[in-house]
Amino acid sequence: MNTVPVIENRFWQHDAECMPRPQLESLQLQRLREAVARASALPFYQKKFKESGFSPDSIKTLDDIRRLPFTLKADFRDNYPLGFVAVPRSEVSRFQGTSGTTGKPTWTAYTRGDVDRWADLCARFLVSGGLRPEHTVQISFGFGLFTGGFGLHNGIQRVGAAIIPISSGNSARQIMTMQDLRPEVLICTPSYALKLMDDILSGNIDRASIALEHAHFGGEPWTESMRERIESGLGIRCWNNYGMAECGGPGIAGECAYRNGMHIQEDHYIFEVIDPDTLEPVKPGEKGEIVVTPLTREAMPVLRYRTRDIGIVYDDGECPCGRTTRRMSRIMGRTDDMLIIRGVNVFPSQIESALMQCKAVSPHYMIEVSRPKALDEITVHIEMEPSFFSDSMREMQQIRENIDRAIYGATGLHMVINLVSPNTLERFEGKSKRVKDLRNLKF
Ligand code: ADP
Ligand code: ZN
Repeated sequence: MNTVPVIENRFWQHDAECMPRPQLESLQLQRLREAVARASALPFYQKKFKESGFSPDSIKTLDDIRRLPFTLKADFRDNYPLGFVAVPRSEVSRFQGTSGTTGKPTWTAYTRGDVDRWADLCARFLVSGGLRPEHTVQISFGFGLFTGGFGLHNGIQRVGAAIIPISSGNSARQIMTMQDLRPEVLICTPSYALKLMDDILSGNIDRASIALEHAHFGGEPWTESMRERIESGLGIRCWNNYGMAECGGPGIAGECAYRNGMHIQEDHYIFEVIDPDTLEPVKPGEKGEIVVTPLTREAMPVLRYRTRDIGIVYDDGECPCGRTTRRMSRIMGRTDDMLIIRGVNVFPSQIESALMQCKAVSPHYMIEVSRPKALDEITVHIEMEPSFFSDSMREMQQIRENIDRAIYGATGLHMVINLVSPNTLERFEGKSKRVKDLRNLKF
């Protein structure tokens, strides 16, 4: 566990963040009962409770959460558009939604109270990651249905810092704004930060003309090695925060000054970690699928949402920051991202970590899965760092071998390594799509 803070250790709602565990757990139990009571107004849960013979007033301990039904992404689709809204329409104060790239969006609704609590939850991780009222923040998350933009906006407003709601896209304008208004804090996806970093470092931009000190990233998986790349490239500190629209958006968990994983905001959320096959809890400290139960959401009282995200919840005692909440690891992958290659389970994040160990490799890569013959094959397209690009076949072969060794070490698989010249792979303004699965494409 890290015992040295990276920055000054501060709190937004000290008493709630540092509540003694017995008190926290009794608050969770009380709030779980209330959440179940709200959920029992929904036909979806009424039917589930009836099927399993569960009575909403029978929650006696926190372990009783395991008697509640799971909620899947597909349940939102099946109950489209507003089957999970438990309050009269007049009490809804906000609708947000998921990107809906694969169909209709999933709507998420908030009461005024939900919006209010959401702002505090975002303020908590922003403050623990260095945001101060005197700062200016450039929000380069998309504003719109995506919970990231408005969620962080409200959190920053609550802290009292100045906001530049520039939204995503147009990196030349983003960089100009950084120079002209000199924000100290940047909010975006890690992939967009890579794109901005590239443009800053490859253009004629004087780093001193940019005042950035911190960045808060969320919305997609990234690795510790990616953090190192961005931190050293831009000379800033990058903080990780986690959330999903179905459970209220960002503000569910975030890092503190000690960076011992992300503190779960346990007074508002209960986390479980399950084996996605057996649906049983994994042993403490083991990785599995994260299941989230929001405790205080009024408009959409979702129970046991199966996120498909894979991670670890650490139960190894209190963090030196003083928060009493459990912490979670980075998201290591998603059950639906997992590639099964020649019988081996591989997550894109393992490949990313391996790649980032190689100095010759830039942070831009693309993973392509194909089935040229009977077996699946992965090709990793990698942009090289310009200074390592060479005419010497031997040097290039050496680089390929180093990458192969790193990938084999991380995954146990050999992959096809395709080194490409700088600036040839796609860049992303929001969430990245770095895995292309050609196996399902019909030609
Ligand atoms: P959509 O992508 O469908 O629009 P969301 O924006 O709510 O919906 O995305 C939530 C998902 O984004 C999470 O379930 C998780 O997979 C991913 N995510 C969010 N924050 C992080 C993070 N810090 N690290 C890894 N993955 C994250
Ligand atoms: Zn901490």
